[in-house]
Amino acid sequence: VDAIIHDIVEMQRRADEERTQGRRIAVVPTMGALHEGHGALIRTACMWADVVVTTVFVNPTQFGPGEDFARYPRDLQRDAAFAEAAGCNILFAPAAESMYPAGFCTHVDVERLGAVLEGKSRPGHFRGVLTVVTKLLLITRPHVAVFGQKDAQQVVLVRQMLRDLNFGVDLVVVPIVREADGLALSSRNAYLSAGERLEATVLYRALQQAESAIRGGERVSAAVIGAMRRLIEETSSGVIDYISIADARSLRELSRIPTRSPVLVSLAVRFGETRLIDNLFLTL
Ligand code: AMP
Repeated sequence: VDAIIHDIVEMQRRADEERTQGRRIAVVPTMGALHEGHGALIRTACMWADVVVTTVFVNPTQFGPGEDFARYPRDLQRDAAFAEAAGCNILFAPAAESMYPAGFCTHVDVERLGAVLEGKSRPGHFRGVLTVVTKLLLITRPHVAVFGQKDAQQVVLVRQMLRDLNFGVDLVVVPIVREADGLALSSRNAYLSAGERLEATVLYRALQQAESAIRGGERVSAAVIGAMRRLIEETSSGVIDYISIADARSLRELSRIPTRSPVLVSLAVRFGETRLIDNLFLTL
């Protein structure tokens, strides 16, 4: 990378300078522990902009009490090398104390959309996400922000926020990158034991099963969800947090699967201490 920037004002100055030179900026917000999922985001960002800024910030406010904030993997030098190989120009890695100095008290929240699915299981999570995304966009001043479909609800919320608050930033969404056996890449996969790692493929298998049932004509959500639940419970030690079939825009639960309207099938499953999410986006 050309630069690793820690200072907020320095990052803003650099972004302003790039804009003044007529260059387009893309930002890829991450929590570090970069993997090929992030790599796909960075490579996509390169297609949309002249300058790619990857932010690495383990945002304390999006973790709940008892979640993995303290043990989340951190290795900035490795991340810098990885980001550079993927085509990133600037790594922005602020300190938590500079992002949230004493007295910090302004937050960005979204009604309803942030209270379901992940937001129900992780109260306050999306308030933390939207607040930090707002700050990162105001600091890196991008034309384009790149997010992964892996966090489908995050995409829905960020899209809503960008529209509601007139950010003037375009959103680019990158499909989920998976291991050869279907497991979606995630920094949290590193927590899995060898046995759990094998079992964790059940999330993708459950989604594939759901997709073939739906494409095969099943329209009753409860039937699809019931079959997913049985597959997970009968073939793994995973503990289901939720399985949802919802309208992909409003995130409202659907009792029947509609045609010509995008549907989000999503799930969260715990293996020991590790909570994994995955999803499938489909339109009949
Ligand atoms: P994280 O570092 O986990 O907060 O993720 C940063 C960004 O990378 C988010 O927009 C994620 O949706 C995206 N991302 C993480 N894993 C994947 C993946 N396997 N495929 C595509 N995007 C991903």
